[in-house]
Parts: sequence; C-alpha cells; structure tokens
Amino acid sequence: MIETVDEALRNTFAWFEVNSGWAPPDDDTLVEWIADGVCRCPDDCIVAPDTWCEHGLASWWLITNELQKNDRRARDRKGLTP
Ligand SMILES: [Zn+2]
Repeated sequence: MIETVDEALRNTFAWFEVNSGWAPPDDDTLVEWIADGVCRCPDDCIVAPDTWCEHGLASWWLITNELQKNDRRARDRKGLTP
C-alpha cells in the first residue's frame, strides 16, 4: 500500500522499467488537467494532481515535478557520484 508521494514515485519509476506504451503528456495537456483539478497517471487512471492511483502510480504532475527536480540535482552535482 502506497502511503507517501515518495513511495508512489519509486513505484512509478519501477513500473516504467517493466512497462512500455506509456508517454508523458505534453505541457499543454498537463496544464489543462491541472486547471480542471485532475491529472492522469501513466496507466490512464484519473486522480487529483498531487496524488496517485489505486495501482500505486503517481500522477504525471508529480512525476514531471520529480523529473525536473532530478534534472536540477543532476546538474548541481555534476561530476560527483552519490
Ligand atoms: Zn491506476
């Protein structure tokens, strides 16, 4: 059972590795969803933007934010291994 955003994100990235056929929404689509107060998950479930579906997959909103955070982190730590 997923209880935190971090858990949902970990679960989702693991899911990406074993599933194909998913594609991130483009920015306009994402913005539209958020304006409606909803968001889709990679398996097409519809959830609130800041949560995850019953299958434990985070919304694209959470995923997109996490990827941007990681990008920044990767740039900040260039040349360093964790
Ligand atoms: Zn789902």
